[in-house]
Amino acid sequence: MNRKLDTRKRIALVAHDNKKAELVEWAKYNKATLNKHQLFATGTTGTMLEEVLDTHITKLLSGPLGGDQQIGALISEGKIDVLIFFWDPMAAQPHDPDIKALLRLGVVWNIPIASDRSTADFILTSPLFHQKYEVLIPDYTTYLKRQV
Ligand code: PGA
Repeated sequence: MNRKLDTRKRIALVAHDNKKAELVEWAKYNKATLNKHQLFATGTTGTMLEEVLDTHITKLLSGPLGGDQQIGALISEGKIDVLIFFWDPMAAQPHDPDIKALLRLGVVWNIPIASDRSTADFILTSPLFHQKYEVLIPDYTTYLKRQV
């Protein structure tokens, strides 16, 4: 049961406070490309991005109030194709467990994740980003059928 991605991707964008300026600058630079896709973001990040991108962004709750978990849930439901998450490696966050959970679910469902700007550049300029793509979902049947 693989997942088929359309050419128009569903992209989730999140940045911690010390990384918001960097994400906003990156998004501004890539405005034309990003605006061709469907965008989601945590609350504060989304509000800042809407201003520079002049486009609608589906805004979830602020990260520490549950926004990271909402994005994780959307990933689990197959509703997010790419995660751009500029997390701060230099500051402790009150919602550290939520951050870990979000990054974990991204890997559980094999979605591309950019934690920094250069990875985000590589993802956005990949030929695969601009075409249909079939995501291989890891086989969890052994886990699901385990004896408990
Ligand atoms: P924010 O949340 O966009 O609402 O600031 C980001 C986060 O800290 O996860």
